[in-house]
Amino acid sequence: MASDDAPYRAPLPVPSDSYAPVWRRYRRTRHLVNLLFAGVLPVCGVLEWRLGDAGILLVTPYLILCLVCAFALTGIRCPRCSRFLARQGSLFSKHCPHCGIRFGTPKAAVTSGFPPAAHP
Ligand SMILES: [Zn+2]
Repeated sequence: MASDDAPYRAPLPVPSDSYAPVWRRYRRTRHLVNLLFAGVLPVCGVLEWRLGDAGILLVTPYLILCLVCAFALTGIRCPRCSRFLARQGSLFSKHCPHCGIRFGTPKAAVTSGFPPAAHP
């Protein structure tokens, strides 16, 4: 006799989207870079105001962190065309500058051939 705790049916496996981890990583890194660079002036100002010349020494690691995160952003490749996403085009663009795929597009939604004829 089967246990009552077992489900009547096993849940169907959800097909994984191979594009999703790339979009998630790109979105998180881009938000981090934007946040860090938006905080450069306030952080530098507060550290200099509160600590004086010693604050300048603490600003240097913050700026290095900004550069490391920006460098990490430029290393992310488009899951469709495998070219670097952030090395061309605007930082605020919502499309790959090379193939035109919109950021966040699931792999199953890409039905046209590669490369696309035109993109907005
Ligand atoms: Zn692309």
